[in-house]
Amino acid sequence: MTIRHHITDQLLMGYSAGQLPEAFNLVIAAHLSFCDECRARLGAFDAIGGALMGECDSVAMMESSLTATLDRLTQPAPAPRLRRKACKVLPAPLVDYVGGDLASVKWRSIGMGVRQAILPTDAGATARLLYIPAGQKVADHSHRGMELTLVLQGAFSDETDRFGPGDLEIANDDLHHQPVAEEGPDCICLAATEAPLRFNGLLPRLAQPFLRI
Ligand code: ZN
Ligand code: ZN
Repeated sequence: MTIRHHITDQLLMGYSAGQLPEAFNLVIAAHLSFCDECRARLGAFDAIGGALMGECDSVAMMESSLTATLDRLTQPAPAPRLRRKACKVLPAPLVDYVGGDLASVKWRSIGMGVRQAILPTDAGATARLLYIPAGQKVADHSHRGMELTLVLQGAFSDETDRFGPGDLEIANDDLHHQPVAEEGPDCICLAATEAPLRFNGLLPRLAQPFLRI
């Protein structure tokens, strides 16, 4: 897999510091599972974060802290969470959310052959899997806030570039685009958005509240 579009320093820092909404964390974790280069950069940010914590002044603790900690030691340890293995298309972080491989995804049609499956994350942003048949266009739109799109299978192109497996497109308020899936395998992406998209066409606008896109 040759990856050409990576996570920005700003997003990696936010991920390292645990400041991003869950949907964005999921997209970044999925890209990291493909990308040695970004994993190495994340290691550097984690080290800086650790060093900064070491520099911080100590803070006085509540008197009850010691008792509360000792109490927790006597409680049984939580059962280890079973981590599922990656499947052919879905990386491991995503398999946990879907509850299995690609066959477990509950797709819902959003028109023109495009399907989506919204994943359960906290309310800070929305994560969805998108299935775009080869050669199909997605309705042209712009964005409110940030949109992250990670290609899992196939490829798409838009006004900015071509995005293949493992590539991450970062779109902001200022980008208006119309992604088109390439010929070949159907395109499957993981996308996270901060807020609903802005569609140009009337039909997508009418359908928006029902599709939560
Ligand atoms: Zn990368
Ligand atoms: Zn977009």
